[in-house]
Amino acid sequence: MESPDLSMTAPSAATPGDRLDVRDLTKDFGGLRAVDGVSFTLDRGEILGLIGPNGSGKTTTINLVTGLLAITSGSVKASGREMAGWPPYRIARAGLARTFQVVKLFKDFTVAENVEVAAMSAKKLGRAEARQRAEAALDLVGITRLAELPARILPQGEERRVEIARALATDPVFLLLDEPGAGLNDAETEILLDTLQRIRERRGCGILIVDHDMRLIMGLCDRIHVLNYGRTIAEGLPEQIRREPAVIEAYLGAEEESHAAAAG
Ligand code: ADP
Ligand code: MG
Repeated sequence: MESPDLSMTAPSAATPGDRLDVRDLTKDFGGLRAVDGVSFTLDRGEILGLIGPNGSGKTTTINLVTGLLAITSGSVKASGREMAGWPPYRIARAGLARTFQVVKLFKDFTVAENVEVAAMSAKKLGRAEARQRAEAALDLVGITRLAELPARILPQGEERRVEIARALATDPVFLLLDEPGAGLNDAETEILLDTLQRIRERRGCGILIVDHDMRLIMGLCDRIHVLNYGRTIAEGLPEQIRREPAVIEAYLGAEEESHAAAAG
C-alpha cells in the first residue's frame, strides 16, 4: 500500500482548533450598516476571497476582525477564543496579521528595518530574532535584494511586497490582505499569485484576500465570499461564484463593463 505523502503536510498543519470563525459580524457607522450579519470561516492552509463592489464592506470587515474598529455585534473567534473587544495588538499576538489597502511603510527606514520593526512590535522580539524573522520573510516574498534600500524609493508593486513581508514577519496563523493586487501590472500580479501560494505551502497560514482582480481571485482562492451593501450575497467555489446570477448582476457584470469602458 502506498504511504501518505507527508511532504504535503506543512510544518504548521491544520488542527481542528486552527480556524478563524466570524459569526454575524455587524458594524454601524451612525445610520449606515456597513457590515450586516456577515459569517465566514477560514482554516489554516486555506485561501478565502472576499469580493464585492466598492463600499460593500470588505475593508470594514478586515478592520473589525483585526480589532481596528469596534464591532457593533457579532463574534470573531480564533482557535475557539473570542476576540471581539480585544485591542489590535492582542489580536496580532494571537496570530492575525493584515495589510492595508493604502500601503503604510516607514519611508525613512530601509526595507529590512520596516520588516524588523513589524516583527518586534507584534511579538515583543529582540533585535536579533526580529532580524532573523525579517530575513526569512523577505526571502519568502522574494525581495531579499531590496533589503538595504530605503522604502521611499520603492515602486508601488515592491511596496506591496514589503507590506506582505511585514505581515509575515509576525509569524501569523491568519493573513488578511486588503487589495494586494491594486495597481500591479500583469507580470507583478503573476508574481503575487505565486508568492501567496508559496506562503500557504511553506507557512500553512489561512489567507483572506480582498481584491478586484478576478484572475488573481479565481486563480488563487479555494472559496469566495461575496458582499454587496454589507451583506453576503453568495459564497462558494470559484466556478460557482463565476456563474452566480446575483454576483454577476451586483459585481462581475459591472466589472466587465468597467473593463470594457477602460479598454474602449
Ligand atoms: P469596501 O472596502 O468594500 O470598498 P468599506 O468597508 O471601506 O468598503 O466601506 C463600507 C461602507 O462603510 C461604505 O459605505 C463606507 O463609506 C462606509 N465607511 C467605511 N469606513 C467608515 C468610517 N470610518 N466612518 C463612516 N463610514 C465608513
Ligand atoms: Mg476597501
